[in-house]
Amino acid sequence: MRLAALLLEDLAVPVPAFTSRSRLLLFAPHPDDDSLVCSILLQRAVRAGAAVRVVYVTDGDDNPWPQRVLERKWRLNATDRRRWGRLRRTEALAALRVLGVNSSAARFLALPDQKLTAMLTCGCQPALERFVEIIADWEPTDLLVPSICDTHPDHSALAVMLGLVLSESFSAPTATGQIAVWSYVVHGKSPAFFDCAAKICQSHSEAATKLRAIRCHKTQLKLSRKRFLAYASRLERLVKLGARDKTVVDGSISSVFRLPHSLGMEVRLSPKAMRMSEPALFVLGRDETGALRCMTMRVPARSSRVEMLDSASLDCLAEAQYRGNAFAGRLTIPVSIFPSASAIFVKLERRSWFFDEAGWLEIPPAKAQPVAEPQRDQVEAALATFR
Ligand SMILES: [Zn+2]
Repeated sequence: MRLAALLLEDLAVPVPAFTSRSRLLLFAPHPDDDSLVCSILLQRAVRAGAAVRVVYVTDGDDNPWPQRVLERKWRLNATDRRRWGRLRRTEALAALRVLGVNSSAARFLALPDQKLTAMLTCGCQPALERFVEIIADWEPTDLLVPSICDTHPDHSALAVMLGLVLSESFSAPTATGQIAVWSYVVHGKSPAFFDCAAKICQSHSEAATKLRAIRCHKTQLKLSRKRFLAYASRLERLVKLGARDKTVVDGSISSVFRLPHSLGMEVRLSPKAMRMSEPALFVLGRDETGALRCMTMRVPARSSRVEMLDSASLDCLAEAQYRGNAFAGRLTIPVSIFPSASAIFVKLERRSWFFDEAGWLEIPPAKAQPVAEPQRDQVEAALATFR
């Protein structure tokens, strides 16, 4: 019985099954992500005769350390970076050819490398419209996207952008049916992803081809050879995305509770010596007019104030407690600028070098709650001590 239950459990975790009618569309934040975690899937799509398109969102041109070492040049200007971006494009195309994917399958969008979070929080409508066009044009049956749990900020920001695009423009079945959307993680070990991810078993020859594809990224092997080559023996993992009715917490946020006009969060900032800057909290969604808005707060790890940074959200207040030296407690954030019927996204940004502690959380629409919300004046009274 136990074995049967386990087998059923395994069968319940879906992985893509490509056929000659499949149309795969893969979004990669940088020109090496597809090689690192989707090489086996790309080989299988090719073998099945599926149509494949790979969209590289940035050229990976803001990659100064390997460039300094390889080019023996300390100061890098815009021309140097463009040259590096072109080099990374040729590496991406070479890796695709190793996997059996024709160069004509690739598209390069050249959005700003290392700045997708800034784009997302400050204005990404043109990028969202471009993603809608690309998806509508390709009419994919299967879509591979980065996970919001990835600890590279470009990856998780792109995941939020694509999440918005899919829920707003592609929630209804298309001419080719409902799009199956799968997410992948390149960086980090988020339990929110790995605890529910399906593993893709790989044959020796598939793994060997993947290794050859990874070796095409010579610029990246220069400083990260061991880490990069290790991806070849690591099983690829995917989470199939669907409409979620609850948030999977991650990082320093241990619980989230959304009411029609406020968002409650339990937060515990673990002391981390390597974190580079004070944590910032982002709350992002569409307002009543349909415009994308992002409220930003600074949550200092070692003081007694939660500070609003975004003057457009002066009506947003937060309640916080500090225990000992580091923040631990509950944040109550009025979110009435976001209609309760639409999802919002939250990120507590704590960077170490350029990696995050955790990615974004998706908070589903608020359900009608029998519990009364705290009165606004009570929240304001509680906040008085933080001003
Ligand atoms: Zn990447």
